[in-house]
Amino acid sequence: MQFFYSNYVCNMNVDFIIVGQGICGTWLSYYLSKTNASFIVIDNNQPNTSSKVAVGIINPVTGRRIVKTWIIDSLLLHLENACFELEKEIGFSILSQNKIIDFFSTLQIQSAFKNKIDEDDSFLKIPTNQNEFETLFNYEFGFGEISPCYLFNLKKVIPEWRKKLIAKNQILEELFVIDNLKFTNTKVTYKNINASKIIFCDGITSFNNPYFKNLPFSFNKGEVLQIETAEFPASNIFKKGIVLVPQGDNLFWVGSNYEWNFAHINPTNEFLEKTKKQLNNWLKVPFKIVDHKASIRPSNLERRPFVGFHPIHQNIGILNGMGTKGCTLAPYFAKQLVDNLFYNTPIHSEASLERFNAILK
Ligand SMILES: Cc1cc2nc3c(=O)[nH]c(=O)nc-3n(C[C@H](O)[C@H](O)[C@H](O)COP(=O)(O)OP(=O)(O)OC[C@H]3O[C@@H](n4cnc5c(N)ncnc54)[C@H](O)[C@@H]3O)c2cc1C
Repeated sequence: MQFFYSNYVCNMNVDFIIVGQGICGTWLSYYLSKTNASFIVIDNNQPNTSSKVAVGIINPVTGRRIVKTWIIDSLLLHLENACFELEKEIGFSILSQNKIIDFFSTLQIQSAFKNKIDEDDSFLKIPTNQNEFETLFNYEFGFGEISPCYLFNLKKVIPEWRKKLIAKNQILEELFVIDNLKFTNTKVTYKNINASKIIFCDGITSFNNPYFKNLPFSFNKGEVLQIETAEFPASNIFKKGIVLVPQGDNLFWVGSNYEWNFAHINPTNEFLEKTKKQLNNWLKVPFKIVDHKASIRPSNLERRPFVGFHPIHQNIGILNGMGTKGCTLAPYFAKQLVDNLFYNTPIHSEASLERFNAILK
């Protein structure tokens, strides 16, 4: 990277500008750091972004129908290796193997779980000791177990990776304003930064990006509580409609809902009261609510990521649309994007931006 100092901020020539350092920008900058390319990340460190409110569950099955997560075998294989490599660089463990104790709220849900096991038992089982949690929880219809699942330590990885970027002068902590972006066929210029390409990893901000606003983005709001209770084993994630995730120091993340229609982005009293009631019915032990947050997931109607470059403006790219599964999808697709750039290898056809060539043109 070359710096030419001016009276405002240094002029810079880099190969890539990355806008945003949530989970997508973190993995993308990590994989670019493994190449000879130079890059600068621009991120204004907004509070309560999706990556800051999420807890980092990597669940191999999805939804009420307990279907296997899309391409989960490839995603998990990649994730384990990727986290192992990143751990070496940031010096602490970032991925823990866990299991979800899934309490059945009705007999129908119990029997649907059993039917799924008959079809494919790779991640599901019904433990024989069904009394194991009866001192802690109310549950009439028993529980199943989903394992392995994983917890990705978002809370620590994003700020720690940011410190690395700061130490190497690879991040500008400021608001990116798209009106200041200029480009030709061969280069992009943002203020005094010249780059070959720019890649947007800016979460819901991309919904208004003039180059990508025609993508089928959709906003999905989620609220979470943090509770304090001393009583739970920290080795399990517990689920009964809502999910309870250990965070250390007797703190537990409790979430979340999925709101497609909402009046504002802030936490609501409605969620607070509803979740308090659910917890009071479910937990047999005392708890204290210590925090309440909300965020918007950068979701999309197709439930598949957006990965690649604009069909006309080929030096403008995007890595986004991770929806409810940023921790599972971002490492895999950040690597695919970097491999595509350097080795021209294909991006998975269901995630590649090429599927939207017609509407983006
Ligand atoms: C309540 C809730 C629970 C969730 N739980 C999970 C979970 O358990 N597991 C899971 O895998 N996923 C979960 N998710 C989804 C996950 O959080 C998202 O898929 C993921 O965080 C999206 O990451 P991102 O990098 O695309 O966007 P973001 O996290 O939104 O990051 C975008 C970044 O860009 C920056 N930025 C934006 N605009 C600008 C600008 N103009 N200038 C400068 N910087 C800018 C922001 O400051 C931010 O740092 C959850 C989401 C929510 C809301």
